[in-house]
Amino acid sequence: MQCVTSTAFGPAELLHRLRARTTVSAVSPVTHIERVPAREGRTAPWPDWTDPAVRDAFTAQGVTTPWEHQAAAATLAREGTHVVLATGTASGKSLAYQLPALNALAEDPKATVLYLSPTKALAADQLRALRRLGLDGIRPATFDGDTPREEREWIRQHSRFVLTNPDMLHHSLLPGHGRWGVFLRRLRYVVIDECHTYRGVFGSHVAHVLRRLRRATARYGSSPTFVLASATSGDPAGSASRLTGLPVTAVTEDSSPSGAVTFALWEPPLLPPPDVSDSSDTSEAPPIRRSALRETADLLTDSVVAGTRTLAFIRSRRGAEVVASLARQSLNEAVPGLGDRVAAYRGGYLREDRRAIERALLSGELLGLASTNALELGVDLSGLDAVLICGYPGTRASLWQQAGRAGRSGREALAVLVARDDPLDTYLVHHPEAVFGSPVEATVLDPGNPYVLGPQLCCAASEAPLTEADLALFGEPAAAIAAQLVAEGVLRKRPSGWYWTHRGRPEVDLRGTGGAPVAVVEAATGRLLGTVDHGSSHAMLHPGAVHLHQGVSYVVDDLDLEDAIALVHQEEPDWTTHARDVTNLSVVNVRSYVDAGPVGLFLGEVDVTNQVVSYQRRRLRGGEVIDTRPLDLPVRELRTVAVWFTVSPPALVAAGIEPSEFPGALHAAEHAGIGLLPLIATCDRWDIGGLSTANHADTEAPTVFVYDGHPGGAGFAERAYDTAREWLRATREAIASCACDSGCPSCVQSPKCGNGNNPLNKPDAVKVLDTVLTALM
Ligand SMILES: [Zn+2]
Ligand SMILES: [Zn+2]
Repeated sequence: MQCVTSTAFGPAELLHRLRARTTVSAVSPVTHIERVPAREGRTAPWPDWTDPAVRDAFTAQGVTTPWEHQAAAATLAREGTHVVLATGTASGKSLAYQLPALNALAEDPKATVLYLSPTKALAADQLRALRRLGLDGIRPATFDGDTPREEREWIRQHSRFVLTNPDMLHHSLLPGHGRWGVFLRRLRYVVIDECHTYRGVFGSHVAHVLRRLRRATARYGSSPTFVLASATSGDPAGSASRLTGLPVTAVTEDSSPSGAVTFALWEPPLLPPPDVSDSSDTSEAPPIRRSALRETADLLTDSVVAGTRTLAFIRSRRGAEVVASLARQSLNEAVPGLGDRVAAYRGGYLREDRRAIERALLSGELLGLASTNALELGVDLSGLDAVLICGYPGTRASLWQQAGRAGRSGREALAVLVARDDPLDTYLVHHPEAVFGSPVEATVLDPGNPYVLGPQLCCAASEAPLTEADLALFGEPAAAIAAQLVAEGVLRKRPSGWYWTHRGRPEVDLRGTGGAPVAVVEAATGRLLGTVDHGSSHAMLHPGAVHLHQGVSYVVDDLDLEDAIALVHQEEPDWTTHARDVTNLSVVNVRSYVDAGPVGLFLGEVDVTNQVVSYQRRRLRGGEVIDTRPLDLPVRELRTVAVWFTVSPPALVAAGIEPSEFPGALHAAEHAGIGLLPLIATCDRWDIGGLSTANHADTEAPTVFVYDGHPGGAGFAERAYDTAREWLRATREAIASCACDSGCPSCVQSPKCGNGNNPLNKPDAVKVLDTVLTALM
């Protein structure tokens, strides 16, 4: 039935072919090969409580019998146990929540179900799946920002399966709970799909939106069962419990079948050193690797030539377009017309276009696809012959999610992780045990963050006055924060509870990053090119900054912070710009610490002030500094959570570090530490900041700070503190095992250093970390 132009090559042979191409270097780009064995599927009978109509609907869709994990999760939910199902891609998580939910709707013609997904596209996919089942009287409907006003009323009154997202719950459904009273009273299940995406500050906000939802259902007399679906993640029960505020049972054993996968770790070769004879730069340029994008484009080309259906995951939209176009070019050079069998795929495409691309790939009409992780969520595309992952996607959870697109039952497939030139990727391709031998990281969120909890209490109070019992629902710090809000005049305390005193509703953005994103506007045409988040705007959009957008170069004329607009004009100067900033940090309090003799490890609150003070212009070719220009931007303040360690000067000297090298050693350790933090916490290196100093006024010792880049913290520093040995050991290994002499982007250099990566002392950073690790043993 399938008319796939199928590959003649198994994964081993394909890998051999891909490898053979690499003639640039004598060193093999493959640093490790892991064999992931095939798994047999295990089915379970339909649970005896399954309604015959529901079972028939699934059977008609080709589901003759559920997998064990589906039946187990569905039965727990049926019994009223809050449950999270955390299994791999394409393991059929939907059935596990559809079965109890649809059963409840079949048994009770008035019952309702609320489904939450992180994206509109996923909700739309779910809606189609529900409609295909063709069950009567359910009237499933999506309710999101695009739903026309006239349809909203109909949905409230008639739909029994409403598919929406946390933003809509927050902005519309909860504030208007009166109109949803009937729906809420009959609510039996709340389904939270792809719940691992609710992490960091956004996740903390969603946690409180769910508490507000629980308060609203209790008010209308229902107590729905929560069913969550997650990618494979560490401690899914704990994360789901933090998210919902309820005890949650996890089902984690995947009983769906999958084909064997050969998983290769791939490090692009070093480029031959450039001719440095005419360089005026006294410092030696570090060696540079071939870019991961080019490498991925070549691998995609070769694998299409070999007739293999291949999906390449690229982190940025632009990167996906670049890889697709490079591959098309080389394919057309090899065989005219072959380039047509490769396409790009990213978020922002229309659903019809996405469907057409998915169909073309499944039918074999398309052989190669370069995609962003837009494809990661909820798209029914699996069973490919090869998956290329360009750059570590940030978490092992995402890595497995992406690699899981490869492999059909009974067939072998290939997955390749192509490393980018940065500390984490480099570490991973040389430490396969960190990829294959480690549990997937836990999803980190912190509902106790006062900067999240305060605004959320205001939202809750504006929906209905807060009672003492409500405060308990929002967690332990809620009482103190409510008192503070009263003191500020935001809430008013009356005998019956806390009241919202203002007319309008509180303005709270769930995805808030501490300020409005700055719009980048072309002055001549008024065209909006895009936005840059508030946090990065000073460094990226200062007057004079060179700003790249879709491969076109612009120069910033003016940054208006009041209106959050940067005006730019198109220009291609012969230089790049690099902002320099000054960061100061003071310790507010210490929450917890470890006293290890000459070494101290701390977790606490800090105040960080940061000012972008100047920028360097550097030649495009060669990178030499043309000049440094001053800037007049305001100081920004951030109260957040930090982890820090101190080492006494005698201990550093005893480790063989000259006092004059303290700053470079600590700075290098700080950079690598930030680079490796995503190994243990689900964050991005851009979510965190750092500061190192040979003598800090508050600690009175050489100190390295790493802090959450969000007001009030996001849980990352806390996670670093809790797993400090593991984190710092990996940091030490990353630096020590890098083949460079004096530091490179793979180990201690950072793309976001506000100090121009100066000073840095790579060998002494290893000594600092050895001293810390020995003391912490
Ligand atoms: Zn290096
Ligand atoms: Zn730095």
